[in-house]
Amino acid sequence: MLDILFPQRCTSCYKVPLNSNRICGTCYDDIKFISNWSFCCKCGIPFGFFNAGDEEYSESNFEGQDNLCGKCIEDFYSFHKARSIAIYEGNIRDLIISFKYEGKLSKADSLLEILFSNFPNDLDEFDSIVAVPLHIEKLRKREYNQSVILATGVANHFGIKCDLFGLRRIRDTRPQIEITNATERRRNVKGAFSVSKDNGFKGRSILLIDDVFTTGSTSDECAKMLLKSGAYKVQVLTLTRARAM
Ligand SMILES: [Zn+2]
Ligand SMILES: [Zn+2]
Repeated sequence: MLDILFPQRCTSCYKVPLNSNRICGTCYDDIKFISNWSFCCKCGIPFGFFNAGDEEYSESNFEGQDNLCGKCIEDFYSFHKARSIAIYEGNIRDLIISFKYEGKLSKADSLLEILFSNFPNDLDEFDSIVAVPLHIEKLRKREYNQSVILATGVANHFGIKCDLFGLRRIRDTRPQIEITNATERRRNVKGAFSVSKDNGFKGRSILLIDDVFTTGSTSDECAKMLLKSGAYKVQVLTLTRARAM
């Protein structure tokens, strides 16, 4: 009855009436899904992402998925594989910002739906879900960790365990997206995470969840700690992939 009186609307444009907490077809079609492009089979970066204009991203650019980027040829990352669903731009970026910084937790439904309908089909099997943790100072301001909400959603969807306490952020860091220098980004997150002594990561194949992948330094630092504590494999899944400033 309430739905008839106050129909819900698209959580992105607020124009199109919908009977769920989702986004409309027009807003969905604006999202740039990474699976449409050719990308690195290890870190998932779309080729040409940091130096090409948007016009070069088209489905015709698709040339198979068995190539490595320069960083992965040099074996730069400790995680096994990283995938992101979409480019951090336009309406998905706006949804993430309001979900993350403006307390709009209702956006999680739309974001999770986008994630599940585009879930990467080339991840290896995983048996544990871990969210990239927030520092307590940020939690005090924000009161929730957006990555934990996404990670819990993914864990529920697959009916597997979400470990919320094993990995911790012990040092507050600047947002990676604000740092232009690659060495500085590495330094920013180095030693920022720790793993609790009684963690259950030994022998686990972990899927690490975050909202945005910028240069991978954060995911990589988390992966290092998880592997050090006995995890068998760490794969990374982020909703979006951003260009560093
Ligand atoms: Zn819409
Ligand atoms: Zn790569």
